[in-house]
Amino acid sequence: MHRIKILSGILIVLLIVLLNVSAFAGMDNRKTKTLVLGNNLEVLLMSDPDVDRSAAALSVGVGHLYDPQEKMGMAHYLEHMLFLGTEKYPEVGSFKDFLTAHSGSSNAYTGDNITNYFFQSSHDAFPEAMDRFSDFFRAPLFDKTYAEREVQAVNNEFEKNKLQDGWRASHLTNQVSKEGHPIRNFGIGNADTLAGDNRPALLEFHDKYYSARIMRLSVLSKLTLLELERIVQKYFSNISDHSVNLPEVPSDYRQPLSGKYRLLKIKTIKDVRSLSLDFPTIRLADYKESKPASIVATVIGHEGQGSLLSKLKKEGLALGLSAGGGYSHPNLSSFGITINLTPKGMDKYERVLELVFSYIEMLKKTGFEKYTFEETQAMAEIDFEWKSPQEGMGFMAGKAAMMQIYKLDEVEELPYLFKKYDPDAYRAVLNTLTPENMLVVLNGQNVETDQVEKFFGTEYSLTQVGGSAYDKLTHPPEPEGMTYPEKNDFVPYKLEMVEEDPSLIRDDQYAKIWFKFDHKFKQPKVYIRYRIETPHVYDTVDNLALSKLYNLAIHEGLNELTYPISLAGLVYSIDIEKQGMTLSVGGYTERINDLLKLVAKNMKTIKISKQKFGNIKEAVLRDIRNRQLGQAYMRASYFHRQLWQVKQYTEEELLAALEPITLEDVRQYSQRLYERVYATGLVHGNWTVAEVKSSVNILLGELSSLPLAENERYKEEVAVLRPGEKVRFSQQVQDNNNALYYTLQVGERSMERQAKLSLIASIVESDFYTQMRTNQQLGYIVWSFENRMEERLFFKMIIQSSNYSPFELQKRVEAWMDKTDGLLSALSDEEFERHRRSLIVSLEKQGDSIGAVASDLYYYATEEDGNFQFKEQLVEAVRKLSKDDVVAAAKKLFQSPQVARSIILVRSNANDDAVPDDVLTTIDQIKNRRATPVGVIPQ
Ligand SMILES: [Zn+2]
Repeated sequence: MHRIKILSGILIVLLIVLLNVSAFAGMDNRKTKTLVLGNNLEVLLMSDPDVDRSAAALSVGVGHLYDPQEKMGMAHYLEHMLFLGTEKYPEVGSFKDFLTAHSGSSNAYTGDNITNYFFQSSHDAFPEAMDRFSDFFRAPLFDKTYAEREVQAVNNEFEKNKLQDGWRASHLTNQVSKEGHPIRNFGIGNADTLAGDNRPALLEFHDKYYSARIMRLSVLSKLTLLELERIVQKYFSNISDHSVNLPEVPSDYRQPLSGKYRLLKIKTIKDVRSLSLDFPTIRLADYKESKPASIVATVIGHEGQGSLLSKLKKEGLALGLSAGGGYSHPNLSSFGITINLTPKGMDKYERVLELVFSYIEMLKKTGFEKYTFEETQAMAEIDFEWKSPQEGMGFMAGKAAMMQIYKLDEVEELPYLFKKYDPDAYRAVLNTLTPENMLVVLNGQNVETDQVEKFFGTEYSLTQVGGSAYDKLTHPPEPEGMTYPEKNDFVPYKLEMVEEDPSLIRDDQYAKIWFKFDHKFKQPKVYIRYRIETPHVYDTVDNLALSKLYNLAIHEGLNELTYPISLAGLVYSIDIEKQGMTLSVGGYTERINDLLKLVAKNMKTIKISKQKFGNIKEAVLRDIRNRQLGQAYMRASYFHRQLWQVKQYTEEELLAALEPITLEDVRQYSQRLYERVYATGLVHGNWTVAEVKSSVNILLGELSSLPLAENERYKEEVAVLRPGEKVRFSQQVQDNNNALYYTLQVGERSMERQAKLSLIASIVESDFYTQMRTNQQLGYIVWSFENRMEERLFFKMIIQSSNYSPFELQKRVEAWMDKTDGLLSALSDEEFERHRRSLIVSLEKQGDSIGAVASDLYYYATEEDGNFQFKEQLVEAVRKLSKDDVVAAAKKLFQSPQVARSIILVRSNANDDAVPDDVLTTIDQIKNRRATPVGVIPQ
């Protein structure tokens, strides 16, 4: 039950942009219907024979803005309580059990002004799942025992987020608002704000606000519209409806100053450096057709030549910039600009502010070109028209959230389109971007502070800045080198479709390339992914360090050239894999080979200045150091890799290798990186064989490499433990949480063993979660899953806990494994068959866009050596298993001392447990262990 905090308006706009990509027009098979039930509940139904699973979401138009002052966190706590038993289905965990057995899952979040619940399941189980789901809203029990226990779950969630800079900054920024304004609420809640008996306040909050008229329901399934309407009428019509008096949320939450601006300095946990400018703006909810904040953001956030970001980079002040506007509650509209700073930018943040205002001042003079609107409108329409049919509970949650903002007859189209040209509104947003209306937030580890926030313990200072620093912003310097974005010639117009069949279209000493034509989505798009294998990425730690800097330098050098292309719906990336560099290019077909050529041509040339290189290198070093401050379970995962992956460099080795590297070193590296290569790849989409062949030739032609022999290509090796061997490792970290990462070695991969393991994982998953998280309240993160590393299989369990030591977590997990006997013996034939069906449904699920299908196919091309039948074969193996075999294998896995295992025990900064002698405590010990020969075991 993640609670998504709306950080500021910016997130909302991101949401809108994301959803922009998830409209569904042009999908012939998808039918929709809207209706309002007798109890005033508004409903959006979608029926589509091609979706793999059914999904639904119900949002309630109330969030933590309405928490009682003496019970902060109430809206969030209520969200948790709805999952813990209802009148018709009183058993705790039964909704989750039911969903797990039917290829499903569920989640929820609480925001300022919304609480959103959602789930997905197989189609056959959907009617019953809807009955269970609707009972959340018809008749929750709020059981007394669980009401007390669940406060601990909320508190665990708070502890998990307490040292996260994003959460800390968002809460603190909200505190710079009028005394008593609800935007200041501590929405997540903890054991203190929810101390004592919460039940009366819980019931009161529920009775006051949980009314059908402020709820919105969205549904997507393979069932027909008629069937869906019947289900919805049957289960949701009797949710109670009554008038709701939502307290007024004043819109003047932060008044402009006079002759000054506000400056908030926040000391961060991680080594981050950023500058955010936040401006209360016009009431954006009144401009749904023109979306003025998006248009203003398009211009200010531009990254091409002549842009604000380009100028900031040239002066060595910034690494990145984003802009956007939005609102959580209609009365809380704001516009924000966030800039990632270099160390120089951190020192000279006042210069950064000056340049921002130079640009804003220039915009105020030039106004907005009409082509900015036309291009934005055209791309929004093209994306809407050619959008992949999305599905699943996340997609439906987005719909239910939109339905809180848009009217029922608008919600399918209006959120995604720009229907009106409105220069006055653009101007009105721009006019709110003034120094006196601004809150500047400077985030960094070394800022000076003089106060401490009471919930998160964040150190900060808040001042009002006037005088010359302020005057420089009201009379900023001339916008030298900065211009309004030029017209974009990459916006596509002639989009056509071609038909052809899939095949292996090249197989020689240079390359092995597959192509599959898209018959499903019928969009004029193509996705290309080529893995360019070279030994010079992972053979030494020095080369690994060079490859990281090389990769960033190439991207940085290309950014201004490719930015207009990205606005026109094309994307590219170059990613580092241990085997080499992977080049991905995708989007509308019309100009794709031009983009490929542009990128390939620049892959051997480093174009950036020394200053930009310095900034990139500093950011890489900082990023690696920041990992060491990460959450306990992520540290556990790092130690886990050190233990199991035979060739693995430590963070310290990588840092030491990075330190001395110069720009000249990276230049030389870029010359020898592609001396010898072998390309493996896959192309999927609306293209011809001739076009694919030509794209491979473009790439190889630009690289002009020699072929790389098979025995020189990188192969990953995974450690093998002897039967019965148990390796324990523990380290203390800087996080406030403990973590356990418990791994059982299953053995060499075969289709049958993989099938068995997947089924075992499905059978025990919900019991593990219910025992560890709900009943024992060990922590917020509780995961069990099967996993593959190369040709080896594993079963893994991860728990992160703020209040239990990792040694105690190990005991709890082992006690649970001992008790699986009962769970497995009690497994009925019917339950077993349900798990089998559920697993098959999730295996048969296909990607929901050309890009997603291309990713799956690329995986089979590179990891399964071109076996595109892999999934079908695995499904076949799952069908053949007998219950007795699976139960016997599960008993052996969880109870036999012969099963080798690794146990990573991460201790929090406050943990003072003694570490037993058998436990390894340094990475050197892991490496020395690896040096001793290990036998291959038959299992
Ligand atoms: Zn939660």
